[in-house]
Amino acid sequence: MIDFNVPPFTGKELNYMQEAVANRKICGDGPFTKRCEAWINEKFGVPASYLTTSGTAALEMAAILTGIQPGQEVILPSYTFCSTADAFVARGAKLVFVDIRPDTLNIDETKIEEAITDKTRVIAVVHYAGVACEMDAIMDIARRHHLFVVEDAAQAFGATYKGRYLGTIGDFGCFSFHETKNYSMGEGGAIVLPDLKYRDEAEICREKGTNRSRFFRGQIDKYTWVNYGSSYLPSDLNAAYLWAQLEAYRDISDDRMKSWNRYHDSFLPLEEKGLVELPTIPDEAGHNAHMFYLKVKDMETRTSLIRHLKENGVLAVFHYIPLHTSPAGRKFGSFFGPDVYTTKESERLLRLPMYYHLSEEDQDQVIRSVYSFFA
Ligand SMILES: *Cc1c(COP(=O)(O)O)cnc(C)c1O
Repeated sequence: MIDFNVPPFTGKELNYMQEAVANRKICGDGPFTKRCEAWINEKFGVPASYLTTSGTAALEMAAILTGIQPGQEVILPSYTFCSTADAFVARGAKLVFVDIRPDTLNIDETKIEEAITDKTRVIAVVHYAGVACEMDAIMDIARRHHLFVVEDAAQAFGATYKGRYLGTIGDFGCFSFHETKNYSMGEGGAIVLPDLKYRDEAEICREKGTNRSRFFRGQIDKYTWVNYGSSYLPSDLNAAYLWAQLEAYRDISDDRMKSWNRYHDSFLPLEEKGLVELPTIPDEAGHNAHMFYLKVKDMETRTSLIRHLKENGVLAVFHYIPLHTSPAGRKFGSFFGPDVYTTKESERLLRLPMYYHLSEEDQDQVIRSVYSFFA
């Protein structure tokens, strides 16, 4: 069976984890955490970033930092993972779902402004499949209405918009290093701060509401509980795993891109015949080969294709039942305007196996199996 996902592994992870154990540094903010954060700061050109226990935790931190209050509203796509919404629900916010664009499946930037009310505080965008949202338009709307922009860049580590790294354009950027993402630490994530003015607050909410980080920097002589917080620091053992992956950043990225391009070239003839649609990458977007998906005619075709692939030893999965149709989505929010594309597009999308070190042999089996379905 060809798995849908295999967690990335470079070979050095165990050495670094062993080093962490040998040095008796396994709690949060140890040497590997610092190394990963410094790497992210330099690569993305941001003044501060913090590893977290998950992408969800990074989003929770971002929601806290926006200061959103119970009853206030967050605008977000319904076509996303529930964590984007959970983070704001935890703050008592109301979810306002806006339709997606049919090409990138990202939030439709032209439909955001009409959904803004005097209760809106945040626009939370999701760069689906590591393909950028239309950030210039979104930042312009946010600035004119004095709203925060949180980038759910969970899938977008290393991807760009007009040459700028995703996660560094809005007020807060959130990444995931879950084992299904391009770079992993098992469970983990990071929040990046393009602006240092949120540094103290970010450190406080990540450290159980204490100003412990300032204490460690020698800025104060004892630390205390100063605000609400939680514990969002991952163990340095996990950071040691991630460090091996960041060291192999280029290799992992090139390998995934090669698989992505191979899928793309192989399926072009099917697209020309009108049997499938391939992912659209706008000119402004530099994607990171996070995901390869096909769109087929309808849900029925998708169900049979998934079954056919399984019979041929290939695990393919669909994505995102729109949040506004789920029990929690109905409870915590509502869809603004007509749902033209969210449900329709989500019903016909199918993700193919995509991971670091997917062999050409296995990939050929996937490609052959898709072709035999349409034959
Ligand atoms: C993976 C993912 C998350 C959550 O990340 P975790 O590390 O699993 O908590 C959030 N949003 C999106 C869009 C994701 O793909």
